[in-house]
Amino acid sequence: MTAATPIAAASPHVMNTYGRLPLALSHGRGCRVWDVNGKEYLDGLGGIAVNTLGHGHPQLVAALQDQIAKLIHSSNYYHVTLQETLAAKLVELSGMTNVFFCSTGLEANEAALKLARKFGHDKGIDRPEVVVFEGAFHGRSIATLSATANPKIHAGFGPLVEGFVRVPRNDIAAVRKLTEGNANITAVFFEAIQGEGGIHPMTVDFMRELRALCDERDWLLMIDEVQCGIGRTGKWFAHQWAGIVPDVMPLAKGLGSGVPIGAVVAGPKAANIFQPGNHGTTFGGNPLAMRAGVETLRIMEEADLLAHAAKVGNHLKTALVTQLLGVQGVKDVRGQGLMLGVELDRPCGALLQRCADAGLMLSVTADSVVRLVPPLILSMSEADEIVAILVPQIKQFLSEQA
Ligand SMILES: *Cc1c(COP(=O)(O)O)cnc(C)c1O
Repeated sequence: MTAATPIAAASPHVMNTYGRLPLALSHGRGCRVWDVNGKEYLDGLGGIAVNTLGHGHPQLVAALQDQIAKLIHSSNYYHVTLQETLAAKLVELSGMTNVFFCSTGLEANEAALKLARKFGHDKGIDRPEVVVFEGAFHGRSIATLSATANPKIHAGFGPLVEGFVRVPRNDIAAVRKLTEGNANITAVFFEAIQGEGGIHPMTVDFMRELRALCDERDWLLMIDEVQCGIGRTGKWFAHQWAGIVPDVMPLAKGLGSGVPIGAVVAGPKAANIFQPGNHGTTFGGNPLAMRAGVETLRIMEEADLLAHAAKVGNHLKTALVTQLLGVQGVKDVRGQGLMLGVELDRPCGALLQRCADAGLMLSVTADSVVRLVPPLILSMSEADEIVAILVPQIKQFLSEQA
């Protein structure tokens, strides 16, 4: 027997930006992953809502291997055929018209914010402002962290980018009041379900009211679907539960099943704001990332993963509600499809290590919300397994702290 590979508490060379668990994964298959010492885990995290098709999906692996051998990157000096293919698919699924490709979520949001600003400048608004929400998370660049609500994410990085008006969730009267008479506003920007902020859904009514308000005031409706999009809630995009169509929709995380990719989808009101020279990125839209996106969406359709995510998510949520709501210390069970949160009445970061020890990967966000964003291929029995590990861990944690 070989000795267990020790994992240093802190890396000597990788910058210390994450509080990491002392383990390292080596490989995965479906919704299972194994660490370098051979310990098996059930994946309730999906690489933070990224690994849509789980790990080692045979069709995705074959497609990526084929693409890597053909062409990984070519540059945006030329047409990239696979960009056309993926853009056409995203247009079809969203009911919107044009796509810009990048490589990450913050980049997609940065592009959205640039669209909101130029939309204003094109109308003669010199100091455009964007409405953003309490609880929002939009990324870690200077502009997207400024749009983010969390003071911990702001700390140390001032001066923040100006031009944001912050409002509460699900309160249209407050939005109207806080924007009244402000002629500089050009857009409203929100996550259909806030992820990092603690799994807080915008209600269907509120999203419809925001769509109407944007139409009334000629603002862009910009919906950050980076985490809640790509089938996770049982629709392609979470805002589709409200039957609305945004003007701008940033995507990333799940779109490439693990290959870095971002996209900004625009409707007619925003599709022609950027002109040649206004925006760009070297890696954006490269053939490898595009192939990952095309294959992810194709496999999702073929396997009917939207209906599957809705069904398994519903089953998982029902089990969590039944077994946890009413337990002393459990405040709420929220979310839709395979984007679920269990809010406790106290910080619960310790559950990360405890659940990992018990063989389950998950995350804790907003200090006290246990978050499940597993691959969309999660089976009913794997959902039951998550519950069988998680519920006793939460109960044990709460009882020790009582
Ligand atoms: C993760 C996330 C981002 C940032 O994406 P990165 O790829 O980490 O830059 C932005 N918005 C939302 C809603 C997210 O969940």
